[in-house]
Amino acid sequence: MHEALLYDKLPGSRVKCHVCQWRCAIGPGKLGVCRMRRNIDGILYALNYAEVSSLAVDPIEKKPLFHFFPGTQVFSLGTWGCNFHCKHCQNWQISWSDPSFLERDSTTLSPEASIERTKRQHCQGIAWTYNEPAIWLEYTLDGAKLAKEDNLYTVYVTNGYLTPEALDTIGPYLDAYRVDVKGFSDTFYRELAKVSRWQGVLEVTERAQQKWGMHIEIVSNIIPTMNDDDEQLEGIAIWIRDKLGELTPWHVTRFHPQHQMLHLTPTPIATLERACAIGHRVGLRFVYTGNVPGHGNENTVCYSCGNLIIGRIGYHIDIVGLKDSRCKFCGADLNMRG
Ligand code: SF4
Repeated sequence: MHEALLYDKLPGSRVKCHVCQWRCAIGPGKLGVCRMRRNIDGILYALNYAEVSSLAVDPIEKKPLFHFFPGTQVFSLGTWGCNFHCKHCQNWQISWSDPSFLERDSTTLSPEASIERTKRQHCQGIAWTYNEPAIWLEYTLDGAKLAKEDNLYTVYVTNGYLTPEALDTIGPYLDAYRVDVKGFSDTFYRELAKVSRWQGVLEVTERAQQKWGMHIEIVSNIIPTMNDDDEQLEGIAIWIRDKLGELTPWHVTRFHPQHQMLHLTPTPIATLERACAIGHRVGLRFVYTGNVPGHGNENTVCYSCGNLIIGRIGYHIDIVGLKDSRCKFCGADLNMRG
């Protein structure tokens, strides 16, 4: 078992974890909200260190990251548990799990082995994804340090609920931060994931960009009747523009009924197009629809000269207008890395 980072010892063999914004106070023998950190005799252990639930070689576009090493393959790993238990989670079989899954279904993969696999599979980088990567902070930190030694890029696909301290721990070794801004109201976050202080997601994302210079892309999964109102969509778009900059990509993705939200319908395409229109009206330069293969809003188009830069149909991409990360036609800055 691996002793956790970022916790305080409290009287009575209790501990307080500072990895994510729940900041769980955990009694002896108990688990945190993520169900993967256990207090054993006053010491906090990360039960899921090196315990893998899912791994795959994915196109970077699947994360989705559209402005970060386009066309490359990324070695993608997930663990067990999560600090959010969203009602619509598409990976609920792993994110709603408890320690019993570690004995039954887990694959153990050391950080060194994960980097070996990344290179052997001809990937240019590694992503911790599928469930919240901060809940195996210790493992992702060890892997990220090794990845940097091998000039591999590193990606967190995150719900953004980690603490500033956790971000600052992984920050020196993390290149891209693909973060969900799931909605823009207290009611929505409380209803979806029982999270009340969701604004911390915004603060830590701003820190990821401003303190650590990470490449940021935002995803909002648009759920009918829950976060598809103009007020929330405009709130997200304005926050991106004002705090991260107009060149930050925003992906508005189609919801498909999952898990505890089977009673809702898939997002109408017209709703996604309305979200895109709001993003553009507010001044964002790159707004994409997701989970709608073949939709024209998957393409990257230069905001300055209107030429096609990257054509996309699903995960098939065609890079036609990039030169040194800028528009090859007019030289505009496209906020493109790699
Ligand atoms: S990672 Fe978050 S949910 Fe898990 S024990 Fe720590 S504070 Fe609680």
